[in-house]
Amino acid sequence: SPSDGYCGRFAPSPTGPLHAGSLATALGSWLDARAHGGQWLVRMEDIDTPRCIPQAGETILEQLQACGLYWDGEVSWQSHIGQQKRYQAALEHLNTLQALYPCTCSRQTITNTLAAQGIVTPRNQEQVYPGSCRPRQMLAYSSAEFTNPSTAWRLALSSNTEDLQVRFTDQRLGPQLQNLTGEVGDFVVKRSDGLFTYQLAVVVDDASQGITHIVRGEDLLSNTARQIYLQTILGYPTPQYLHLPLVLDAHGEKLSKQTLATGIQTDTPQQALNELRKAATHLGLHHLPSGDDVTTAEWLLAATHAWTEMA
Ligand code: GLU
Ligand code: ZN
Repeated sequence: SPSDGYCGRFAPSPTGPLHAGSLATALGSWLDARAHGGQWLVRMEDIDTPRCIPQAGETILEQLQACGLYWDGEVSWQSHIGQQKRYQAALEHLNTLQALYPCTCSRQTITNTLAAQGIVTPRNQEQVYPGSCRPRQMLAYSSAEFTNPSTAWRLALSSNTEDLQVRFTDQRLGPQLQNLTGEVGDFVVKRSDGLFTYQLAVVVDDASQGITHIVRGEDLLSNTARQIYLQTILGYPTPQYLHLPLVLDAHGEKLSKQTLATGIQTDTPQQALNELRKAATHLGLHHLPSGDDVTTAEWLLAATHAWTEMA
């Protein structure tokens, strides 16, 4: 079964083709899984449908194959109805725990409420939700209420301050601590447009796919405490986390579609190998076979050994 032994995953959002940054994440998670003799699953995180680009998921899968990064089992797609039912079930579970409440605050309302308290959120940080809509007494809501199109649903953080100090040890960055009340606040699990949020979906999927090891970019580090908190209240196990260094562009910005990161070139095996070599250098792997006569498969085997020695 997928729950005994190592099970890793690569979970791209299909908002564009793989770029240097997402290939480094794919390679790092693939190498870690192979180095542990584990499974490596691919999950298309197409939950935020308005942000997804048609065919980007298929392109990503072709790019992975061109790089020899083959996955185990079937690719799962968050937009599929079976997955949606799982997210709904988790939402209902949270509801029975009386841990949810509806919220109609706009971003502007939240900004104003925080400003009135003298709090200004720096541009590169997320707003800490001030709890404006939190009811005095937490209730369970009827399932009909979840379909109200104009409300988002927030998770009410525990009143036990111990639960809110989330600690974990990142395999690369060491001990981490986040205070959820001070740094995040009650967070959204279902949006007012009816979509489940990344935080809820990723936790449900990692649990239902039996993921034991999460290897992903450091840009997601600040989400981990929320995810561990959700895992705990939903009764799911917490995986191991390893956050990889981000690939930055010439301006020191994280590569993304917003920074117009260009897709990797994988039309020929030589191009694919060239992209893999750049990704490996970024991950800190050295002394890998150079030259044009090495196949992708040979190179990946050498990279797996190098990864094992580095760990
Ligand atoms: N889909 C997310 C992204 O592409 C990654 C989610 C994860 O690895 O937890 O940024
Ligand atoms: Zn609100």
